[in-house]
Amino acid sequence: MQHYSAPLRDMRFVLHELHDSASLQRLPGLEEATPDLLNTVLEEAAKFISAVLLPLNATGDAEGCRWENGVVHTPKGFKEGYRAFVEGGWGSLNSDPAYGGQGLPESVSKLVEEMICGSNLSFGLYPGLSHGAYLALKSHGSEELKNLYLPKLVDGSWAGTMCLTEPQCGTDLGLIRTKALPQADGSYKLTGSKIFISSGEHDLTENIIHLVLARMPDAPAGIKGISLFVVPKFLPQPDGSIGARNGVLCTGIEHKMGIKASATCQISFEDATGWLVGEPNKGMRAMFVMMNSERLSVGTQGLGIGEAAYQSAVAYTRDRLQGRSLAGAKYPDKPADPIIVHPDIRRALMTMRAYNEGCRALGVWVANALDRSERSQDAVERAEAEDFIALMTPIVKALFTDLGFEATNLALQTYGGHGYIVQNGVEQFARDARIAMIYEGTNGIQALDLIGRKMPANLGRSLRWFFHPVAEFIEANAEHPEVGMMIQSFAKAFGALQLATAFVAQKALSDPEEAGAAASDYLRLFGIVALGFMWVRMAKVAADKLSAGTDDAAFYQAKRTTANFYIERILPQAGSLLYAIKAGKASMMALDDAAF
Ligand SMILES: Cc1cc2nc3c(=O)[nH]c(=O)nc-3n(C[C@H](O)[C@H](O)[C@H](O)COP(=O)(O)OP(=O)(O)OC[C@H]3O[C@@H](n4cnc5c(N)ncnc54)[C@H](O)[C@@H]3O)c2cc1C
Repeated sequence: MQHYSAPLRDMRFVLHELHDSASLQRLPGLEEATPDLLNTVLEEAAKFISAVLLPLNATGDAEGCRWENGVVHTPKGFKEGYRAFVEGGWGSLNSDPAYGGQGLPESVSKLVEEMICGSNLSFGLYPGLSHGAYLALKSHGSEELKNLYLPKLVDGSWAGTMCLTEPQCGTDLGLIRTKALPQADGSYKLTGSKIFISSGEHDLTENIIHLVLARMPDAPAGIKGISLFVVPKFLPQPDGSIGARNGVLCTGIEHKMGIKASATCQISFEDATGWLVGEPNKGMRAMFVMMNSERLSVGTQGLGIGEAAYQSAVAYTRDRLQGRSLAGAKYPDKPADPIIVHPDIRRALMTMRAYNEGCRALGVWVANALDRSERSQDAVERAEAEDFIALMTPIVKALFTDLGFEATNLALQTYGGHGYIVQNGVEQFARDARIAMIYEGTNGIQALDLIGRKMPANLGRSLRWFFHPVAEFIEANAEHPEVGMMIQSFAKAFGALQLATAFVAQKALSDPEEAGAAASDYLRLFGIVALGFMWVRMAKVAADKLSAGTDDAAFYQAKRTTANFYIERILPQAGSLLYAIKAGKASMMALDDAAF
């Protein structure tokens, strides 16, 4: 059985005690976002997902989506679930009030997104893509396009998609072939085939708005000749009502390993009418607004599903009786002890817990930067926040999804053979989580983005927004009476990251293949140090609360214990990652292609 309830206590800790949500109230538009209001939103969201989304997770997986003559039927209950989602306003939390949104902080929206992904990842993909489409149109669309489309995407009556992938073109978007021919009235006619389009066709909304990458005639070859178009399934009337059907056909859906209730569609554009978004041949710039938002969301998918896996494993290992504790029977009245007493099961549970709580803390840190980048009236603060988000986006995407999948795998293992059996629900988590490491730019590509673009950007300036606060924290707290030792251990891992950064920067100058060979290990090293930073900060907050006296001591003691576990049992991987990085590309690249 799948267990998931929103981890509200930990969410409140991260939001208010670790990252001081009240400090966001100085930003324009967030004056009313008090901690009490944010807590109420989280509590209501938790009730909604438990009542509506969680019960549809296993049934949606079993039934899947169905394609019939171009029409896609979502599984039983999804239509009603989506209606309740829209009526509750759950898709518009962080959208602009000018278009009907609620203008709440990004942090609270991210935590609600985590709940949605933890309770039903397939469901979450439908509204998730709409928000990304909203962001791209909002930042690059004309006023006319914004006024027509944004209110409908925000209120959830229309849904969005991102149409990049084609059969011959996945990672390398320069290979796109879909054509866009200019028309006398300023519109375009699009022709081409897209594959793997999430939510490309479904029965949840009255209209579907595709954001499509395509090539105009005579456009430069490769990535420099790509433009972005908005192509609706039904052509909207100027008043926003639905008009004629456009030339957009769903020619089939994929039969997949997981997220079976999310429709992954083949879409054929046949002289479909579309409108340019942004400037000709500058489509990637506009599309990256959606892609960057989706990358952070995909990271949240890894975290949400990792939490669901953890909670299910806790419930199972408390219940399952096998063997006796190595320290002597703990439950002598029972025929055997519950397996939660065994160190190897503890290893799995503590690892999942340390990953999830660490990723939640890091995710909210980045979400707060999103608010500063959008709302601050200080241009320097906005620029710093933008640099920080750019640096952290590949880390959030790849690290959270790698760890999320690892958590599902650990959870499955704690169930033994029962984990492999469909009715027990935990294998669905592993199947669902796997895609997050692949789509929205594979994790290997995220690593190349970190090392090839984000690290050298502005002569390494972006790195400062991570390295400086870490160095300052170490200096200020290394002698802390309670957590000073832990911080000194963390400082060693940070030192490994600094050495690796200098090594990679220097090697990459002479040989880009060296950077490519180091990329995935470097991202993992950066990621586990970033989680380590969150853990030492959380340990300090917990230690200070305990010293001051608290009526919630069990929570803070568990925080400190989990911090210790992370620092002692996971963070030492930093040393071996540095070692691997410094080995360079030689053994990786030595064999001829034919030798494999
Ligand atoms: C369920 C699902 C939903 C999806 N949803 C969408 C969607 O909504 N919209 C959309 O447009 N697409 C979507 N995709 C497509 C997805 O984003 C791509 O599958 C992904 O970007 C990888 O492209 P590819 O599959 O063609 O792999 P390829 O690009 O062929 O890559 C294969 C392998 O080679 C590696 N590789 C490729 N190039 C390089 C390089 N230069 N250096 C190092 N390694 C490299 C990759 O990391 C990967 O491991 C979806 C896919 C799936 C399966």
